[in-house]
Amino acid sequence: MLTVPVPCLSDNYAYLLIAPGTNECMVVDPSEGGPVLSALAQQKTRDGRALTVKAILCTHHHHDHVGGVEALVSELGVTSVYGYEADRGRIPAQTHFLTDGESFTFANMTITAMHIPGHTTGAVAYVVREGAADPIVFTGDTLFIGGCGRIFEGTPEMMHASLQKVAALPKETRIYCGHEYTESNYRFAATLEPTNLRLQKARERAATERRANNPTVPGTVEEELATNPFLRLDSAELRKALAIDAAETPAQMFAKVRAAKDVFRPSAPLSQPRVPT
Ligand SMILES: [Zn+2]
Repeated sequence: MLTVPVPCLSDNYAYLLIAPGTNECMVVDPSEGGPVLSALAQQKTRDGRALTVKAILCTHHHHDHVGGVEALVSELGVTSVYGYEADRGRIPAQTHFLTDGESFTFANMTITAMHIPGHTTGAVAYVVREGAADPIVFTGDTLFIGGCGRIFEGTPEMMHASLQKVAALPKETRIYCGHEYTESNYRFAATLEPTNLRLQKARERAATERRANNPTVPGTVEEELATNPFLRLDSAELRKALAIDAAETPAQMFAKVRAAKDVFRPSAPLSQPRVPT
């Protein structure tokens, strides 16, 4: 399987998920129609064949994830739009109403919906498996590289449990998330774990990629466990930074990390692509 990130709006990613050896693909979280249509056209010139969009996968109902659904349905005649069952009426043109753990196949891939409420109550991740290849997961606005989404509709308990579900996937699982927030997330993480060397390396790599105007996706479950503060509640350094008491529950600890991130503002500008002069 081939996953192509499509930058949309200011910092969103839609994705093309292309079935190997075919001209068929699915589109994940089309924020807007234009960039996705352009990406489809570019992909065609590279392979010499036009891609057919067989379905759209939506991780949740927020407009910056579904804003392009209707354009793709009308322009390309896409007939299948997937989302969680509870998002009925919130995802435009939705045709498939998935339950937690429900799977379907696309070419040689098996796609499994994983309900991960917290950011919204209907948030769902899509875990994609193909033979013996490492799985991939589309996490929307729940797990970001180096961070997690804000809790708009759920509770810290829900969000913590949802992140744990994603973190329990095989360590090699590649993570494709909904926004390019990595550098900002790592800056916050470094305030909690200034001596975490894996985090420092990941942060340098992310800055290099952003200066080259490259996406920082995908991450991996393994790297998130080593660097993402929302998955590092066992870190003594992190606990000390937030005055976390050992008697607190993991969800209470998680809530403290989330509350600190909610008010964190990076002081220096993030890396910008170098413009050739
Ligand atoms: Zn969202």
